[in-house]
Amino acid sequence: MAAEAYGGNKTLVPRFEAVSRWDGDIALATPASSDATIAVFKVHRGVLAYHSKVFADMLALPVDAAHNETYEDVPLVCLHDNEDDLCKLIKAMYDLSSLRLQRFDADTPLQVRGVLTLAVKYEVESVREYIVSHIEADWPRTFEELCRWRLDFLHTMEVRTLHNQDITLRAEHIYPEPASAIRLAFDFGITSILPAAFYRLSLASVKSVWKENPPGWTWNPDWFSARWDLLTGSDYRRLMNGKDALRRAQKELPWVWHDGNADCEPECMEGKQDLHDSHHPAFPQSDNDVFFELLRMSKDLRECNTASLCNLCPECREAIKQNITALLDEMWTSLPRIFLLDQEL
Ligand SMILES: [Zn+2]
Repeated sequence: MAAEAYGGNKTLVPRFEAVSRWDGDIALATPASSDATIAVFKVHRGVLAYHSKVFADMLALPVDAAHNETYEDVPLVCLHDNEDDLCKLIKAMYDLSSLRLQRFDADTPLQVRGVLTLAVKYEVESVREYIVSHIEADWPRTFEELCRWRLDFLHTMEVRTLHNQDITLRAEHIYPEPASAIRLAFDFGITSILPAAFYRLSLASVKSVWKENPPGWTWNPDWFSARWDLLTGSDYRRLMNGKDALRRAQKELPWVWHDGNADCEPECMEGKQDLHDSHHPAFPQSDNDVFFELLRMSKDLRECNTASLCNLCPECREAIKQNITALLDEMWTSLPRIFLLDQEL
């Protein structure tokens, strides 16, 4: 039997192994991905109508047996979607866990794009919400989450080195990839992840392409990569603006440790001068991650990790810690503005 909607003379192939139900009362057809056949999914009207307003409306139309095609005696609905994506959507309507989304999987934005497109098209809100909340959970959306996420990266690197793990499998690959996440976020309105995703993108080197290690490339723990080819011109404008602003913020750093009591003991004054000398010269020109440097400095300050930090008096140490927290907080708050996320480009 052929589906006239596809030009006739095409074989309908049931997809029992994928999702079809033997007692289904409606058949959905779409061109197969792998060959010239038509894939048919025999499913339940009730499930489609429960999850999807579009299917509910479609199935509410009166069926005229004389003019409508059937498949194994049930009505056949001809669609024109990607077979794999339709299969995933149908499976997800029966069982959301069939999407098998893993936390922090860098490939998730690419894997869900197709099924998310169909979930929007057919208004399957349960599947759309499930995917969106998974993507959102993969990215820090508060100041505290961003601090934890950035420090967690350092710890992951340390653990990998400790266990002599293959460093060609770079630690960044266990975290979401920013370019694919940014594209998905703009296309599907998942805007809450954009500040952190652009911040993560700003750390990447354009010399470093996701999962490519060019000959002679030296592994550097400070280098992040990205799927650069996915980005649009507007994305690059946002990125450049943000990187410029972050570079300017580095110049603000000296005041962080020049604050505090100006009439302290000589050891404390020397300690503050050491702090200034050891950090300041590198910052204005470099691409150091200023957010991370401040987090690390705050940690060093708490743990008295260097002699100069140990010599600071309690008042100055507290004042510097508060300055660092205020600057970190200000930087987090400024991310939407510096990456032009409040503007249509
Ligand atoms: Zn002091």
